Amino acid sequence: MTDQFDKPRSTLWVEPGELRVGPVARVAMLAPIEGQYTYTVPDHLADRVAPGKRLMVSFGRRARPAPAFCVAVAQEPWTSTLRPVADVLDEDRLLSDALIELGEWMSRYYCCPLGRTLSAMVPEAIRSQSGFRVVHVYRSATPDAAAGRKSAKRQKVLDLLAGHADGLREEALLAAGATRSLLAVMVKAGQLQLHIRREPAPAPDFDRPGEEPTFELNDAQRAAIERINHLAGEAAFKVVLLYGVSGSGKTEVYVRAIRSVLERGRQAILLVPEIALTTQIVDRLASRFRDVAVIHSGLTGVQRSLTWSAIARGAKRVVIGTRSAVFAPCPDLGLIVVDEEQEGSYKNQQSPRFHTRDVAVKRAQLAGIPVVLGSATPSLETWHNCGRLPHFERITLPARISGLPMPAVEFVDMRMAQGERKGVHLLSARCEELLAETLSQGRQAVLLLNRRGYANYLMCSRCRRSIVCPNCRVNMVFHQTTSQALCHYCQARMVVPARCGDPSCGGTLIRWGMGTQRVEEELRRKFPDARAVRADSDTMTHRSHYEELIRAFTAHETDVLIGTQMVAKGLDFPEVAFVGVVNADTALSIPDFRSAERTFQLVTQVAGRAGRAESGGRVVVQSLTGPLPALSHAMQHDYEGFARHELAIRQRCGWPPFSRLARVLVSHRSPAEARSQAHRLTDLVRGYIADHALPADVLGPQSAPLARLRSLYRFDFLVRSPNATRLLETLDRLRKDDVLKLAGRNVLVDVDPVSLL
Ligand code: ADP
Ligand code: ZN
Repeated sequence: MTDQFDKPRSTLWVEPGELRVGPVARVAMLAPIEGQYTYTVPDHLADRVAPGKRLMVSFGRRARPAPAFCVAVAQEPWTSTLRPVADVLDEDRLLSDALIELGEWMSRYYCCPLGRTLSAMVPEAIRSQSGFRVVHVYRSATPDAAAGRKSAKRQKVLDLLAGHADGLREEALLAAGATRSLLAVMVKAGQLQLHIRREPAPAPDFDRPGEEPTFELNDAQRAAIERINHLAGEAAFKVVLLYGVSGSGKTEVYVRAIRSVLERGRQAILLVPEIALTTQIVDRLASRFRDVAVIHSGLTGVQRSLTWSAIARGAKRVVIGTRSAVFAPCPDLGLIVVDEEQEGSYKNQQSPRFHTRDVAVKRAQLAGIPVVLGSATPSLETWHNCGRLPHFERITLPARISGLPMPAVEFVDMRMAQGERKGVHLLSARCEELLAETLSQGRQAVLLLNRRGYANYLMCSRCRRSIVCPNCRVNMVFHQTTSQALCHYCQARMVVPARCGDPSCGGTLIRWGMGTQRVEEELRRKFPDARAVRADSDTMTHRSHYEELIRAFTAHETDVLIGTQMVAKGLDFPEVAFVGVVNADTALSIPDFRSAERTFQLVTQVAGRAGRAESGGRVVVQSLTGPLPALSHAMQHDYEGFARHELAIRQRCGWPPFSRLARVLVSHRSPAEARSQAHRLTDLVRGYIADHALPADVLGPQSAPLARLRSLYRFDFLVRSPNATRLLETLDRLRKDDVLKLAGRNVLVDVDPVSLL
């Protein structure tokens, strides 16, 4: 059975004469230590040591006791130099073989030590074993219980137990009038036997059966469901992109496809992005199923832990949740659905830095089941894979269910608009006009601004022109951290000038900060009677704040909702007739090759919000950069046109999906040290890649766009390979030869980064 261990082994040199054969455990340390280690399994622990449990082992030269995850147990030859397992920490396996295999892939792919990866797959509360309760069961000690004194009270207990050969739980006896001390005395007197056993506590009940919709599915939905059912029935790995604008009925397809899987007696996972209103969406989805488990950040540790064990027992058949739900311990998984697959929040921002969608795809592959990715604006990675990779397939829902047209989207060039009026206006005249109209009709509006800390523009106080990049002619963004103006296209930087670039003007420059707060002030000034609320991370510090705000807006107790992107997502307000995107450039101004894609997604999403009303909706998109392709395609609701355009650029520049990236970020308190360490590491990696002819190139190093974060200076470089396999091969080699050391505190490796900040 030695082939169970495919990892290189360090300690198993067997000398003739001292060879023994016995069970050994291969473990991965929970501390951030690379590699796997082998320990012998002593007889007294033989029953309890199993893969997927945590063990205590003595580790290192000083043989300190340390926790580790058991990855495999096998009969192996071993030598006396091997140390024994010291203890077993878990009664039950925390991870199945299938999940361990997934973890091994994640550990390699995302460059995170295995023990740490496996721990991250199990909820904290499960690791602390709170998912169980201790049950006391009593039964009569002898058939007629002749022994001992029999008071009336004792006789009553014995009578109660008479018909229960398997005994009764303590609660039942207490409810019938017995006391704990009485029971204890009877046990002592030999009249009762007590069995203490651990059993899983019941998981919280998420079943809230709701109304079944009465509509007939349309042809496209029916075809989609049939196809997914077929794939699920074949138990074959396939990635299905379910592509359809918002309101095209994707959710209904998920629900029906999942139900068919349940009817076959299997389980399903439905993943949703982590957004402000996850609970609202999830509640609605959960109401369509029975035996449903919901996993989101609002659960207490105990609830999470109980839910986890109920899933593992098969008591919960459908799991709905955010990132961590992809690790739900379903023993018989038949389908995974990833809603809004393009969402950046699917990326875990702590080690292991996995992308939930990609882990879902890997899990589906290992399990041999289909995975459905749903979106109106698929990530370009997914879009590009369809039609290129044999296991990707696209299903389209071509139209809105309602048959309503997509809302009309107007563009306002703020460079022009600024010149038309005195003062600095965040809301253009056109925007005000439509707002006024909306409010006078007694309907609602949403104003959206994706504020980023550094999205500050520079504008001349006299001629109102802003500082533009000499190469690209787009507005430069002022970076507080470096006091430089930066072009988000060519990365040109310049020291911020004191005066207007036009010598005939020479006016002083003003910083044009954009934030939801400024929008709110302006709105209150211009529309003193409108009931406005602001939703951003400053005003919404608790989940309940959101819930209250959303409730009030839904009940039309407020008229205008001002917020950051969180407002755009997942909301369904039929009364909203107008949406203003205050500045569509804030996403574009992020120096990241995905910024155009983000902007497209944002505007499309927002437009989808506005158009839910029966009478249609209107959208105004304001921008300081002119109608760049990302905006003009979004305004025409033309995803495919945008994808074609953007993919051509990505291909030309060699960005994903035409390559895969790993970002290596070096941070240090001292800027000089950060820079020199980053240069040294980049040279080392670049040299190693060249020497070993690895399929990768290295870009950088450079100061990170967020050059300073939490008092650390940050530099980064990118390792780029043509595809995932090549990137994995490259990173494997770099790790194995200790060129990239993961234990170093100030070096972080982010594979497939979703943000290059
Ligand atoms: P998506 O997930 O693509 O945004 P939904 O599945 O939420 O779209 O569907 C939008 C709305 O249309 C929902 O209110 C849903 O109940 C309704 N709906 C879905 N399918 C149909 C149908 N075949 N006939 C009528 N209404 C439908
Ligand atoms: Zn000027």
